[in-house]
Amino acid sequence: MHLCELNIRGWRNYEELRFTAEPGVNLIVGDNAQGKTNLLESIVYLGSGRSWRTQKSAELIRFGDAFADLEAKVFSEGREQTLRSVIFPGRRPRQLWRNGVKKKSAGELAGVLNTVLFCPEDLLVLKSGASARRKLGDMALCQLRPNYDAALAEYNRLLEQKSKILKDRFEQPAWLDILPEYNLRLCQVGALLISYRARFYESLGKAASVYHGQFSGGAEEFTLDYHTVSTVADPFASVAKLTEDLQSHMESHARAELESGQCLTGPHKDDFDVKLSGLSVKTYGSQGQTRTAAISLKLAQRELMKRESGEEPVLLLDDVLSELDPSRQDFVLNQISSGQVFITCCEQGRFTKLGQTIQIRKGQIV
Ligand code: ATP
Ligand code: MG
Repeated sequence: MHLCELNIRGWRNYEELRFTAEPGVNLIVGDNAQGKTNLLESIVYLGSGRSWRTQKSAELIRFGDAFADLEAKVFSEGREQTLRSVIFPGRRPRQLWRNGVKKKSAGELAGVLNTVLFCPEDLLVLKSGASARRKLGDMALCQLRPNYDAALAEYNRLLEQKSKILKDRFEQPAWLDILPEYNLRLCQVGALLISYRARFYESLGKAASVYHGQFSGGAEEFTLDYHTVSTVADPFASVAKLTEDLQSHMESHARAELESGQCLTGPHKDDFDVKLSGLSVKTYGSQGQTRTAAISLKLAQRELMKRESGEEPVLLLDDVLSELDPSRQDFVLNQISSGQVFITCCEQGRFTKLGQTIQIRKGQIV
C-alpha cells in the first residue's frame, strides 16, 4: 500500500498543503519547527484516526482555524481509495470518510493506510516508563485489530468513569452503588485486552528476535515477556477465565481502592520487558543494545502488519536516522528497501539519493 496524494488544510501549522508522494522513499527536509513531524502526524491520523502526540482535537487544528481537513488518495487492496478526516475543536465529533462513505469509528478505516511510525523517543522505549511501552503496543494493535481498538476505547471510558466515582466517593456516596457494575464490565473488557495483547506480544517478540539476531550477528538472544495483572496465571487462557482472574484481583483490592480513591487493579498498568541473553534491557542494556532492540521491535511491528494484511505498511521515520550511527542507519535502510517510506531530517546529508525530496518551510513546500 502507498499514499499517492495528500491534501491537508487547517492542520497544525499548515494552512494548505498538497503534494504527490513517491511509492518509494520520500525525504522531508526542513529546519526545526517547520512542520515535518506535523506532516507525518497527518498521515498517521488519516490511516488510524489518532495521533500519537495528543488526544485533544483542538491541538490538531491550526490556530485561528475552525476545523482541520485531511484528504488522501491511497493505493491499497489493489485499487485507488480515498480517506478523509475533518476535525473540529471541543465536543463536536470528527467526521471520517472512506471512499466517500462516512464512517462511525476509526476501526472502520483499518487496513486502508497502515502506518508504522518510528521516532527518537522510540529508541529509548525500553528504558522509559511503562506507559511509553503500552502506547507503542496499543498504537500497533489498534491498527491490526479493529476490535481491540473498540475494546480499548470502552475500557478507557469505563476506567475514567470509575476514577470519577472513586474520587468523588465522599461528595457523591450514592454513586458507589453502581461501582460493581463498572467493575464487572472493566474485568470483561480488560480480559479481552489481555487476550489480544498476549498474542500480539508473542508474535512481536518472535519477529523482533530474528531482526536482533541478524544485527548482533547472533551474539545476543532477544526475548520479550508480557506482564499483566498478577492473578493472571496464563494470559492465553479463555476470556472467561481471564475475567475471573481479574475479578479476584479486583476483589482483593476493593478496600484499598476505596481508601485511596484510585483505580489500583486492571490491565491499564500492563508492561513488557525485553531481555538480551537473559538480561533486562531496562536495567542492564547499554545505549547501543537499547537502540538496536528498539529498532528490532519497530521492524517486527512492520513485519506483523505486512503478514496480516499482505501489504507493506507505510513506514514513517521521524528524525530517527540522524540519531543512529552509520552501521545502524545502514541496517535500517537495508531492511526497508521495499515499501513506501517517509523520512524526515534537518539535512539531506547522505540520504538525498534515496528518493524524492520535499523541502518544508513554515508549513509550505519550497
Ligand atoms: P523538529 O525538526 O524540531 O522536529 P518539525 O519540523 O518536526 O521540527 P513540527 O513538530 O512539525 O516541527 O512543528 C512545527 C510547528 O508547528 C511548531 O513550531 C508548533 O508551534 C507549530 N504548531 C503545532 N500545533 C499547531 C497548531 N495547532 N496551530 C499552529 N501551529 C502549530
Ligand atoms: Mg519533528
